[in-house]
Amino acid sequence: MKISIIGAGYVGLVTGACFSKLGFPVTCVDLNQETVKRINEGEAPFYEPGLAELLAGQVKAGLFSATVDLRQAAQYSGVTFVCVGTPMAGDRQIDLSFIIKAIDELSEALKDKKDYHLVVMKSTVVPGTTEKMAERLWEMTGKGAGQVGFCMNPEFLREGSALADFLSPDRIVIGQSDAKAGDYLASLYETMPAQVLRTNLRTAELIKYASNTFFAMLISYSNEMARLAECIGDIDVIEVLSGLILDRRISPAAGGSILSPGLAAYLKAGCGYGGSCFPKDTNALRELSTKGYDYNPLLLDAVIAINERQIYHTVSLLYKEMDPRGKEIAVLGVAFKPDTEDIRESPAIKMIDRLLAGGAKVRICDPRALGPARKHWGERPGVSYCEDPGEALKGAHGAILVTSWPQFTCLEPEDFLKNMATPLLIDGRGVYDREKFSRAMNFRVIGYRPGSKNPA
Ligand code: NAD
Repeated sequence: MKISIIGAGYVGLVTGACFSKLGFPVTCVDLNQETVKRINEGEAPFYEPGLAELLAGQVKAGLFSATVDLRQAAQYSGVTFVCVGTPMAGDRQIDLSFIIKAIDELSEALKDKKDYHLVVMKSTVVPGTTEKMAERLWEMTGKGAGQVGFCMNPEFLREGSALADFLSPDRIVIGQSDAKAGDYLASLYETMPAQVLRTNLRTAELIKYASNTFFAMLISYSNEMARLAECIGDIDVIEVLSGLILDRRISPAAGGSILSPGLAAYLKAGCGYGGSCFPKDTNALRELSTKGYDYNPLLLDAVIAINERQIYHTVSLLYKEMDPRGKEIAVLGVAFKPDTEDIRESPAIKMIDRLLAGGAKVRICDPRALGPARKHWGERPGVSYCEDPGEALKGAHGAILVTSWPQFTCLEPEDFLKNMATPLLIDGRGVYDREKFSRAMNFRVIGYRPGSKNPA
């Protein structure tokens, strides 16, 4: 079966490249001519480990191509995955304009198609959206579910490990307009050894939000514990959370050893979550609850507020140690996490803006994300860009670790001491050895404050 994909971003390109690796001929459609050109030359338009190599091979083998012509791509395929962006509109809601445009163009393309066609929503959309899009397309084409079926197939890949996540999924969720549509989509995944969950469209949509908001909640929960540990003093949140994770209900014992759950990676304190999904999805679900259904989502409110507070708290740890005016501050990491160049909603963005507003000069250092950072801040006065941490730290008065790239986490106290004008380090990810760094230099970390104070 031939597959067409609308949107050649992280989700669309990974989905397309992986389906073509499984043997399906794939055409990816994107509005961006430069993106299309680069893909057809066998190049990945952004950094994702393993993607460039996979794409080059699949393009060469004639199994993968890109185009700006949605009509042709849709007409010559049996299934179209919608993978366009659903960014935040303003502060909270998601912007559905890319989805609507894609559905309208698809309707035009499918109007005179004779054979059955399946449309699969892979973009993250709030419950009810896929149903609305199906109705819109059916009305525009004059067809019904018997001729154009709809599925909602949320994507759970994580940037940095996207190929492995796609090719070895833990579950495949298929929300379906009807059984024929679901069967059609299930057949594409039949070689993947994963649990398949078949639901209606809106349940599949909410599963995606339930998943992302759950992990965001674990991070905010950890940060709440971190702040409490800092307030009380002489408590290290790392020890607190390790003690929690060892609970058998979280880490079961099997064959004499303790299984460490994947969620342990989210039970970590730090400078807050970011990325193109967690902030957008928590906000969109809160907005849907309050504006759409007049339901006050107290937990989501807290998750979002704690994250926002944590980002600024990290900067305030630095401010407690120095007056930032005119000082050079190295920000180690601008990508929202390691192994990606994606800076969308990275905590670093708010931190850097706050530092600049406080009169500091900021040296942004990142092994992969300087391109997107340059696009964001450009030649703004007070901002400079460094490839190498040594260069960023040279003569700096303070440093904040934001992204735990191995190039940063391997640094030793001497690397800061020998380079910095005043060796002050704020560890926003809790990665450095507290004792070693505290002994060697001025060191502050999220979730630990030496000394103790009992409340009055
Ligand atoms: P992205 O911004 O990287 O890519 C979207 C692409 O769609 C862009 O290349 C854009 O040019 C293209 N596009 C927009 N409108 C188009 C149209 N009408 N025709 C053709 N191309 C069009 O977005 P992304 O990160 O891949 O995310 C896509 C969706 O998947 C979002 O809803 C997101 O929430 C969800 N998602 C993202 C991730 C992730 O890690 N990035 C993971 C799971 C789900």
